[in-house]
Amino acid sequence: MSNRPQYPFPQPPELGKPQQVAEGVYWLRMPLPFRLDHINLWLLEEDDGWTIVDTGLASDDTAELWLKLCPLLSDSKPIKRLIATHMHPDHIGLAAWLCRHSGAEFWMSRGEYMHCRILLEDSTREAPEEAIDFYQAAGFSEEQLNYYRSRFGGFGSMIRGMPSIYNRLRDGQTFSINGRDWHIVMGEGHSPEHACLHCPELGVLISGDQLLPTISSNVSVWPIEPAGNPLQDWIDSCHRLQSLLPEDTLVLPSHGLPFRGALPRLQSLIEEHEKDLQIVLENCDEPKRVVDLFPLIFKSPVGNSMLVLATGESYAHLHCLMARDQLAMEKDANGVNWYRRV
Ligand SMILES: [Zn+2]
Repeated sequence: MSNRPQYPFPQPPELGKPQQVAEGVYWLRMPLPFRLDHINLWLLEEDDGWTIVDTGLASDDTAELWLKLCPLLSDSKPIKRLIATHMHPDHIGLAAWLCRHSGAEFWMSRGEYMHCRILLEDSTREAPEEAIDFYQAAGFSEEQLNYYRSRFGGFGSMIRGMPSIYNRLRDGQTFSINGRDWHIVMGEGHSPEHACLHCPELGVLISGDQLLPTISSNVSVWPIEPAGNPLQDWIDSCHRLQSLLPEDTLVLPSHGLPFRGALPRLQSLIEEHEKDLQIVLENCDEPKRVVDLFPLIFKSPVGNSMLVLATGESYAHLHCLMARDQLAMEKDANGVNWYRRV
């Protein structure tokens, strides 16, 4: 098998119009108003109802497409359950709305559900001092800190509430859908407890953002867990998927096209990160701040809108190297962290 992903469905479906990609599995595209202009959702058909995986963003465009689609789905049978891969707004923005509208049960991992509820809480308060310290330690200027303060809590505006109750997804749990077993496989690093759905009988993996064909998912340290090591979690999750998935698995990702070639794709994701880790390490012969890493890791200049993601990703590389005992950190009198090779 070649190392390049193979794309058996090169033409994405029209927005809001489901297209079958495996027996009882439908691909649904919804718009995103960003440079990344779409998200893929998945519909699983059973004799007595539908299971939906992810919802799209809380936008009028997406809600309108769902309203057109819902009668089509429930004419024949109801939406039984909504499964959320993870808590990012493009995935669960309409979860509360859709569950209310359809009567579907809501399923999510505990880590994702609780984390999302906490972030929604943040939209009712000001940035805490600890978060400011975290970004000051990274080397933010006063102007950048003010930008962060002004955007704090913005997560809530991208989500139309969350269902007040949930059913817990667990690693290794199985759903029988249309007479076939779908296993929940958890991943970490991109979000706290990300669920993928694997159906060995169909040879299909619904991968969420845990495995994408062309984009490398953001892996960030966040102020709520300032000493976290999500990059090692991410690399471990890639290895785990590699050991679990048969070579010819059809991967259904949240962004981009369905593809085959999961194993070489996982390998190249691991290698890209290992390469960046090496670059960071080599550049830390002279002490560096978090913000000094941006030109090493990112191809284009980091503007304010990308600042938090770039900082989180840079912290992630540094913490991974520290956990491997290859870097040491010292805080200066201004509270700024400096990282140096040991
Ligand atoms: Zn995501």
